[in-house]
Amino acid sequence: MSNIKNIPLMIPDIQPQDIEAVVKVLQSGMLIQGVNVDNLEIAIQNYLSVKNAIAVSNGTATMHLVLHAWGIGKGDEVIVPALSYVATANVVELVGATSVFIDVDENTFTIDIQKIEAAIGPKTKAIIPVHEFGLCANIEPIIELAKKYNLLVLEDAACALGATSNGKFAGTFGDAASFSFHPRKAITSGEGGMIVTNNDTLAKQLRALRNHGIEMESGKMEFNFAGFNYRMTDFQAALVLSQFHRIEATLTYKRELAEIYYANLNNISDIVLPHVPEKMEHTWQSFHILFSDSVDRDSWIKDLKLKGIGTNYGAQCIPAQRYYIDKYNLDYKTLFPNAYRAYTKGLVLPLYEKLSKEDIKSVAVEIQKIDEAKNTLISL
Ligand SMILES: *Cc1c(COP(=O)(O)O)cnc(C)c1O
Repeated sequence: MSNIKNIPLMIPDIQPQDIEAVVKVLQSGMLIQGVNVDNLEIAIQNYLSVKNAIAVSNGTATMHLVLHAWGIGKGDEVIVPALSYVATANVVELVGATSVFIDVDENTFTIDIQKIEAAIGPKTKAIIPVHEFGLCANIEPIIELAKKYNLLVLEDAACALGATSNGKFAGTFGDAASFSFHPRKAITSGEGGMIVTNNDTLAKQLRALRNHGIEMESGKMEFNFAGFNYRMTDFQAALVLSQFHRIEATLTYKRELAEIYYANLNNISDIVLPHVPEKMEHTWQSFHILFSDSVDRDSWIKDLKLKGIGTNYGAQCIPAQRYYIDKYNLDYKTLFPNAYRAYTKGLVLPLYEKLSKEDIKSVAVEIQKIDEAKNTLISL
């Protein structure tokens, strides 16, 4: 039997004051997009020093809305990493455009800058770099490349609120950026998302598009676009705003927890620990380790589950998913070996505020024990 307590992969840290903030909204009866959504947007604008933040119903909706507002559609191509949560490519498909997949870097698991330029053609309209697992993509050269070829950049910063590259926040490099407040992310509204952009014209359009295409003109509602209903409710905004007030403390604590994994897992020969380039600060949305090719990752997931520890693979090799196989039929193992390796040999370990440093240590100790047991078996 396991001697450690149950440690799921993720539990959001909802504190009494967060619940109080939600209850206040519920008691007010003003449930739809209102003052809390406004305050959340202002808080994110100030934190990131961006001109506009637009709250919407979830992270996927943010990206769908931006691509739609940019008029990207049939006949257009959008460059996306082969490794991400599948939503990154789904939104390209949803506007009718074509996903052009690029492998990820073998060390950082973010889009490989060396491979982007060759994929740019006359139909390419945009790039969606993903700040995978909470680590910034190699974003500065991506922006340069986009400028050179006149491409739009939508940062998928779903996991990266508070991540930096060269001291600049993820989400402040591109033409627009997308954040998610799903419960797996650092702060959560249950479902929720945020678009940020310094482009006022785009922001105005996005505000209308999330709300049935409505714009106020001389105090009158005008239905100026065929819009969506992608609004965030006001109680969701209150929930995530309350957590947002402690984001820096949350990130600092998560960085301390990550150090414990580094200190305790660095001598396991079959495991590669996450690489963080010197110029970057990680959010540790996911502490993603990579097993050697000979290791059966799924047996590790089972063994850890028996010890009460929740783990999972980190992200999909998107071209290896059914819809993308049927539509594109790409030889993904050959074309995207790093994405495929992460998908089949990667593992995300628990790392969140509700865990103590001792919890992290105990997960690391269980990993050491399992590793020893497996190696003993091999040498018998
Ligand atoms: C979570 C996530 C999304 C989707 O966000 P939702 O709020 O769940 O729609 C998109 N991209 C990445 C990289 C994510 O991690």
